[in-house]
Amino acid sequence: MPHGFILLTQQTDADGALWQCFRHQSGLRHWHKTTSNKQPFCASFIINTPVNDDSGMSHALEHMILRGNIKYPQPNSFLQHRAIADYQHFNASTQLTDTRFHFATTQAPTALKLLDFISHSICNPNLKLKDFNHEIYHPSNQWRGVLYNEMQAIWRIKSLRNRLS
Ligand SMILES: [Zn+2]
Repeated sequence: MPHGFILLTQQTDADGALWQCFRHQSGLRHWHKTTSNKQPFCASFIINTPVNDDSGMSHALEHMILRGNIKYPQPNSFLQHRAIADYQHFNASTQLTDTRFHFATTQAPTALKLLDFISHSICNPNLKLKDFNHEIYHPSNQWRGVLYNEMQAIWRIKSLRNRLS
């Protein structure tokens, strides 16, 4: 694979599909599944973002880099890409050890568009204070911030709150 990626490992799943794991010198891992015409195109970018404290930094960065990048500078670029009707899955998530950007689609042109958008978001983010204030938190925002509201919604789940207390 070009552009500094090396093949780390590959394995075949129970359905016989080949999965290849590529790693970039930055630490970015790219899992690639070989598909047939009947199967969707899918990709997952996994970045090591181990959590060392409760600051939420990794989760905040996940949100921030989807607020536009050098190639797609508009803050709503992620939502514009999500508006593409022919994807089956397109989102991001942050876990204790990593942050993942993933999608699945049956359409090759859509897969290429989403690959382009995600790779530019990861490698060429356009981090701005005004996007932090919108996406993460700002006390004068009417809605406080997207991530703030996400955390508020999670905190309202009593069973989860009890586990964290
Ligand atoms: Zn989130």
